[in-house]
Amino acid sequence: MKDKTGRDIDYLRISLTDKCNLSCIYCKGSEKHKKELSVSEIEKIVKGFASCGIKKVRLTGGEPLLRSDIAEIIRSLKKIDGIEKIVLTTNGILLKAYAKELKNAGLSAVNISLDTTDQKQYAELTGADKLKDVFEGIKAAQEVGLSPVRINSVLIKGKNDDSAKELISLAKHNEIDVRFIELMPFTKEGRDEDKIVTGDEILNLFPELTLIENKDEKSVARYFTAEGFKGRIGLITPVSNKFCSKCNRIRLLSDGKVRPCLGDEKEIDLMPFIDNEAKLLEAIKYAIMNKPTNHSFNCEYGNFHSMNQIGG
Ligand code: SAM
Repeated sequence: MKDKTGRDIDYLRISLTDKCNLSCIYCKGSEKHKKELSVSEIEKIVKGFASCGIKKVRLTGGEPLLRSDIAEIIRSLKKIDGIEKIVLTTNGILLKAYAKELKNAGLSAVNISLDTTDQKQYAELTGADKLKDVFEGIKAAQEVGLSPVRINSVLIKGKNDDSAKELISLAKHNEIDVRFIELMPFTKEGRDEDKIVTGDEILNLFPELTLIENKDEKSVARYFTAEGFKGRIGLITPVSNKFCSKCNRIRLLSDGKVRPCLGDEKEIDLMPFIDNEAKLLEAIKYAIMNKPTNHSFNCEYGNFHSMNQIGG
C-alpha cells in the first residue's frame, strides 16, 4: 500500500521484546519491561499488514533471540500469504544455538550488530564479555546458509571510532558486508552530536573506498569496495543524509503499537483492535497512510519508547 506521499510501504520491522542481554551505552532501555505480544497476536497483526502489501518482515528488539518462541514466530509468519521474506537483527550472542532451527523455520538472512573487534572495548560498550560468542554466531549463521549475513556497526567518537579499521578489514578478508550506521539521538549518548561519526568522515579516513552500484533499489545503504575486498562496506546515514523519500518501512513495537517512522514519536496502538479484524485493518491502514514525510528525531529523551521497544 502507498502512503500519503506515494511511497510503497512493504517492509515491516517488529520489535519482539524490549529485553536485551546487552546494555550498550547508546541503546539502554528502561529497566521496566512491557508485556510482549503473543505468537497469535503477532500473527493477527502481520496478516493485516500483509493484506496491505507488506512483503518483508524483520524481527528485532531488544534482543529477539531472548524469545524462546522465536522459531514458532518465524514458522507462523512464513505461512502468511504475501510474506515473502523473514529476516533477523540480533547481537549474535545466542545465534550459534539458534541458527539451524531458525533457518529451518524459514529465516532467510541475518544482520549482526558488532561495534568493535576488541574484546575489552566490546565489554566496555555492551557491559558483557561476549565477543567470542558473537563471532561463533556469525560463523554458525554462514554455515547453516543464512544469506546474506551482514554486520552492522555504530561508531562513537572517543569510544570505539578507533575500531573502524578492524571492522572494515572484516569485509576485506571475508565475504561479508560491514555497514556503518550513524549514531541516532535516542539516548543521552546519541544526543551528543560531537559523538556521531558521519558517513563522510568514514570516507575521508578510508579514501581507498570507492562507491559501487547498489542493485537493491530498496536498500538505504550506499555500498563501497576497495581492491582485494571480498565483502562490501555500507554506509547508512540517517542523521547526515536522510533517505526518507525512499523509506519503505513501518515498525511494530514490542507492546503492540505501530510506529510509522523511527524518528517521529507518533504511534498508533493496535491492541484495542486485536480481536476485531476489520478495525485492526483500519488502524494499520491509517498508520501506513499517515507515515510522516520526513524524520525529525523530535522525540523528547526520557519521554518516549527506547530503541529496544522500537526495534533498531
Ligand atoms: N539486539 C539486537 C541487536 O543488537 O542487533 C536488535 C536490536 S538493536 C536496538 C538493533 C540495532 O540498533 C543495533 O545494531 C544497534 O547498534 C542499533 N542502535 C541502537 N541504538 C542506536 C542509536 N542510538 N543509533 C544508531 N543505531 C542504534
